[in-house]
Amino acid sequence: MFGRAISSLERKSALRIAIPRFIPKSSARNVPSRIIQRLNSNQPCRRGFPRAPQQPKRESKVKHTRWDPSQIQHARPLFNNDRFTHALRHKNTKYLAILIVGGSIVFYCTHIEEVPVSGRKRFMCFSEESAETEGLVLYQNIMRAAHRQGALVSQWDDRTRMVRRVMDRLITGGNLKHVDFEIHVLESPEMNAFVLPGGKVFVYSGMLNVTRTDDALAAILGHEIAHNLARHSAEQMSRGILIFPLRWALIFLDATGYTGGLGRILGDVGLSFGFMMPASRVQESEADYIGLMLMAKSCYNPEAAVRVWQKIDQSHKDSKQNLPEWTSTHPSDANRIKKLIEWLPKAEEQKVEAGCTFAAQYQQDFQQVLKSMWH
Ligand SMILES: [Zn+2]
Repeated sequence: MFGRAISSLERKSALRIAIPRFIPKSSARNVPSRIIQRLNSNQPCRRGFPRAPQQPKRESKVKHTRWDPSQIQHARPLFNNDRFTHALRHKNTKYLAILIVGGSIVFYCTHIEEVPVSGRKRFMCFSEESAETEGLVLYQNIMRAAHRQGALVSQWDDRTRMVRRVMDRLITGGNLKHVDFEIHVLESPEMNAFVLPGGKVFVYSGMLNVTRTDDALAAILGHEIAHNLARHSAEQMSRGILIFPLRWALIFLDATGYTGGLGRILGDVGLSFGFMMPASRVQESEADYIGLMLMAKSCYNPEAAVRVWQKIDQSHKDSKQNLPEWTSTHPSDANRIKKLIEWLPKAEEQKVEAGCTFAAQYQQDFQQVLKSMWH
C-alpha cells in the first residue's frame, strides 16, 4: 500500500514534496526494491522527484586553454597591418623617426675617413683592435688545421725564406716596421695568399709555383699587405653595421605581411649584388693600386705585377674558373691587368722618388766594371 502511494507520488512530479527517508519494516515488504534503493542512495528520481536547485556556475576570470599545436597555424601575428598602421600614425612616431634618421646621419658623417695612399673616403666605425681580435681567432683556426694536416712548411725551407726575404724588403720600403708580421707557408695546390689583421702572413705553395721570382711574389704580397694597410677587414665590418638596420626593416615588413615573406630574400640578393660585391671589388682594386706603389717603393719591378696577373688569368681560363665580374667579389682578371698597366707610369715615379733607379744604375755600372776587369 505504501509502495503504491510512493509510486503515485512519483508519477505526480508536479508535487514538490519530500519523501520520508524512513520506511517502516512492515511496509518495506510492499515497497519495490528499486524505490528503496533509490531512496537510500539519495539520488534524485528520474521522473517524479524534484531535483535540487542548481546554483548558477560562476565564470572563472582565468581562462585555461589546452595547448593545441594545430592552433599555431591560425595564431595571430604579433604585429599586423592594423597595429603597424596605428603605430605609424601615432603622433610621436615622426619625432622618433627624425631622431633615428638624424642620429644615423650624424653618426655616419662623424665616422668618415680617408684611406691612406689611395685617398678614398669611406665609413669606418670599427677600431683596428676589433679587426685584430677577429684575425686572431681566424689565425688560431688556420694554424690548428695546418698542424692537423701537416701542411705547415718549415721556417728554414727555401720557400719560406723567399717569402721572408721579399717581406723584409716590402716592410722597409713601406715603413711598416711597427707591424708585427709573422710569415707562414702552407703546403697546398691552391693559388692563394693573405695577410690577416694584425700581420699574420700566409702564402700557399700553389701561389709560389706561379710567382717564381721575387718581383712577382712582391706583387702578390704587396696586394695582401695593402689590404692590411687600408684596414679593409674593419671596413667590411663597418659596412655590415650600415646594412644591419635595413635587414631588420625587411624582416619586420615580412612579419607584418607587407612584403609577402619575400622581403628578406630579395633584400639579401639585392644587397649582395648591388652593395656588398661592388664594395668588395673597390677594395680589391684599391689593394692592387696600393700594392703596386708599395712594390715600386721597395725597388721591385712593377711590370712583374702585370705579368703575374696575366699568368693567373691564364690558369683561371685553363681551369674554367673565370666568373662574370658582377657575380664576384673580385674584379675580373682582364680589368685588373688593364688597371695595372694604367698605373705603371705612377709606379715608376714612385720608384724614382725612392731612389731605386739610381741604385739600379749604380749596380749595372758596377757589374759592367767587374766584367771589363775579367775580360
Ligand atoms: Zn685581395
